[in-house]
Amino acid sequence: MSRCRCQAEARPAAVAAPDPGADLTVVVVAAGSGERFGHPGGKALVEVAGRPLVAWSLLAADAAPSVAALVLVCRPADLAAMEALVAGLPLALPVAVVPGGDDRQASCAAGLDVVSSEVPLVAFHDGARPLVRPHTFEAVAARLRADASLGGAVAGCPCTDTVKVVRDGTVSATPDRGNLWVVQTPQAFPIEVIRAAHRRARSVGTDDASLVEAMGLPVAVVDAQRNNLKLTYPEDLVVVEATLLAAEREGE
Ligand code: C5P
Repeated sequence: MSRCRCQAEARPAAVAAPDPGADLTVVVVAAGSGERFGHPGGKALVEVAGRPLVAWSLLAADAAPSVAALVLVCRPADLAAMEALVAGLPLALPVAVVPGGDDRQASCAAGLDVVSSEVPLVAFHDGARPLVRPHTFEAVAARLRADASLGGAVAGCPCTDTVKVVRDGTVSATPDRGNLWVVQTPQAFPIEVIRAAHRRARSVGTDDASLVEAMGLPVAVVDAQRNNLKLTYPEDLVVVEATLLAAEREGE
């Protein structure tokens, strides 16, 4: 593991110290292959609206008052470049940069390994979701704090498309859309719950909450930010860049 802590003299004057009440570590996972994006070297460092893709998520998490520390999980080959990126960003919070694994779950586990147990909550966020806003981190953390029985709280929104279950190219079922939500990140958990969920994991899931659900614990869904898109295909870039540039123009 390498740990990168910006030197005080290198920080812009506007950078503030972490809020003393901050109780959330954010793990940004950015160790994916980028194959669907047509960038097999990984897309986390691809420039999007004037910054490397993953920088947008780091800046948003850094600006959320509940966040105490950041972990960035990257492709092993990108470690040096990611450390240089982090050192050059105006981040107030300490950032640990660690190498990821072969699938998303392994990357989350690698990030979790360096999270301090003294910070009670942890949220995982896809580095491929650069539109995330600070209030979305606040919303999932607040939901967890409000209900101690929860095993997790995840960002998501009600499904607007009709979803079909398809087998061999033919529809086998049409679930009731009223019960369907599209789930995004951040996904937040009490630190001991997500550590136990990873220890007990028997299969590889595509999100963090599914590990906690497998333990029988309730997971709340928070409708916090409908435009929290994941940059997956090259055609997603147009919408993502336009949204980031519009937000910058409006001073968000
Ligand atoms: O593949 P998927 O779209 O689910 O990836 C979601 C996020 O997980 C991305 O930000 C990607 O970089 C990350 N990931 C990772 N390690 C992997 C695979 C995916 O950190 N091995």
